Amino acid sequence: LRSCGFFILKTAQLNTAQSIAGLVESANNIIITAHKSPDGDSIGSSVALWHFLRQTKERVTVVHPDPAPEFLHWLEGTTEIVDLETKEEEAKKLIAEADLVFCLDYNEPSRVGKEMQPLIEASAAKKVMIDHHTNPSDFADILISKPEKCSTAQMIFEWIAESGQLDALDVKAATAIYLGIMTDTGSFRFPSVEPKTHEILAELIRRGVVHNKVHENVYDTNTIDRIRLRGYALSEKLVMLDNLPVAYVSLSFKELDRFNYRKGDTEGLVNQILGIAGMKMAVLFTEKEDGVKLSLRSKDELKVNELAADNFEGGGHIYAAGGVFHGSLEEAIERFVTNVPKYVSQA
Ligand code: 5GP
Ligand code: MN
Repeated sequence: LRSCGFFILKTAQLNTAQSIAGLVESANNIIITAHKSPDGDSIGSSVALWHFLRQTKERVTVVHPDPAPEFLHWLEGTTEIVDLETKEEEAKKLIAEADLVFCLDYNEPSRVGKEMQPLIEASAAKKVMIDHHTNPSDFADILISKPEKCSTAQMIFEWIAESGQLDALDVKAATAIYLGIMTDTGSFRFPSVEPKTHEILAELIRRGVVHNKVHENVYDTNTIDRIRLRGYALSEKLVMLDNLPVAYVSLSFKELDRFNYRKGDTEGLVNQILGIAGMKMAVLFTEKEDGVKLSLRSKDELKVNELAADNFEGGGHIYAAGGVFHGSLEEAIERFVTNVPKYVSQA
């Protein structure tokens, strides 16, 4: 029975991979979308797919809700992303003309943000969703949802391999895939990493990825402002809860401004908080124009995606989630502190 079930699953996967390849073949205008506030995986998976499809398709464009953070601009293809925030007319035209839309690294249309969501929903194009977040909504024509996967970038590799096109994976696409896997796994250390992940990484390096450069480009490019913001956050703003293995940092507009905050400057900060010995949950609150953004990380079965979904209109993965709060920084923190005990004691 087990082998029979396995066989069926494999056949279904092959069919899905080939169906997507079929859609690509018959499409004339392809766009690749990903969630708002891009990270290494949403950029890496989008750019990888773009490089790959460009070899056979004339009209394929990455169309994102907002610009890529500067720390990813080194990746070839990133600066050619058309984002709705700064290139509104061009992005709208591309979305309207698309006959195939890839939806990468998000599980429901709202994750592209309120400006882009209605445009995607109104599109009559075929939609293919490839994603690793839980609870996917049913809005795509073809859905590959695998919450157990470490990254969407790995899923892009797997789709290319399963559809029998691995020979066409060039070093540019391979580098983007390496980037996505690296950033979504905290450099290959999260529980979501599986033997296959390392096999894929080996294959990517064989194909010419200069892996040490990817690490350097992402992690060794701190500005003085960013280093100082981190130092300030950790030395002046770290709060540890009494009797719970939970710590948080909050940063107001004013504080971010003092360090000339740029998108991406707080990347990884929440993981540093979780790196304190004994800590099981860490949160970063940042004050944004439209509310307070939360970034949550955890260990040992503490489900931050549930905490984010129940209290902060958010979600994500068990150990990495995010959300928003419409109100002041103090109110957001209060809501968190009041509700966090039940997510710690349930584990
Ligand atoms: P980060 O803390 O890096 O911004 O986000 C971590 C993860 O949480 C992301 O990969 C994404 O899955 C999820 N996430 C972040 N913000 C939100 C949000 O506002 N809503 C939902 N549903 N998920 C989010
Ligand atoms: Mn991801």
